[in-house]
Amino acid sequence: MNGKVYLVGAGPGDPELLTLKALNILRRADAILHDDLVSAEILAHAPRRALRYNVGKRSGRKSTPQEAIHFLMIELARQGMEVVRLKGGDPTVFGRAGEEIRALRAAGIELEIVPGVTSALAAAANAEMTLTQRESASFLLLMTGHFARDSHAEHDSTARVESRPLPDLRALLAAGATIAVYMPGPGPRALVERLAAAGVPRNTPCAAVACASTPAQEIVVSTLGQLQSATLAAKPAVLIIGDVASSARQQETITASILSQPEFPLAFTTISQPSQLPDGDRELE
Ligand code: SAH
Repeated sequence: MNGKVYLVGAGPGDPELLTLKALNILRRADAILHDDLVSAEILAHAPRRALRYNVGKRSGRKSTPQEAIHFLMIELARQGMEVVRLKGGDPTVFGRAGEEIRALRAAGIELEIVPGVTSALAAAANAEMTLTQRESASFLLLMTGHFARDSHAEHDSTARVESRPLPDLRALLAAGATIAVYMPGPGPRALVERLAAAGVPRNTPCAAVACASTPAQEIVVSTLGQLQSATLAAKPAVLIIGDVASSARQQETITASILSQPEFPLAFTTISQPSQLPDGDRELE
């Protein structure tokens, strides 16, 4: 009999932001396919006997082709296993869950999606700001800062990205939208230029939150214009744009790393070191 695949959100980093449901599923998993951003602390909840595959796109490894992830999930489920596909944040937000859902359905494998705390929510919480605000912010737009040329480019900072024009954002912002930019791109200058071309004024408040909910968290509150000339750490970050950002909390200690990197956060820092994982790890070749 076939097993089942769970597409599970691991949350933004803090292990306490894992849902109880995710935890219960993880505790009985037979096999886990996880992204780089999923911490060793979270993975430690899985049984020692569980097969583990880091199918992340970073850690100095080449990207795991999406098809290889599909193949693995399907084959493990066909062996009767309960398979957990563990993704950072929420699986349905810039997590390629769409491709995985299609592949699992086509293979006739039962699946269940378990939501997680997406990084924009963790960023807002840690910056002590709201994403909506009665009477002043009534829309929330989640967007990616760059557009993948092909299905493997999305999480790969070295891949060539295509700059599709953005829709007109001026009216949305004027009507009180908050915009959360995931994967903000290779440099603040290019992103700010693209946003400005889409009608976003340079004096719009913004808060850049890197590694939200983790010990490496950094928060920079400024305007888009000021951000343009900033150099920020190469860490996963969400940029929150809109009036609500003016009330964000600037993190007191901005570490030296924030001044040392020439590029805006795009690359993931590896939280999960393979060596920190419990015994029995298996890497996908
Ligand atoms: N499914 C994830 C998003 C994956 S795309 C989610 O729901 O959060 C990867 C992007 O997520 C990163 O480039 C960064 O923009 C964002 N991200 C992931 N973890 C983050 C964190 N702890 N803090 C800030 N941004 C994060």
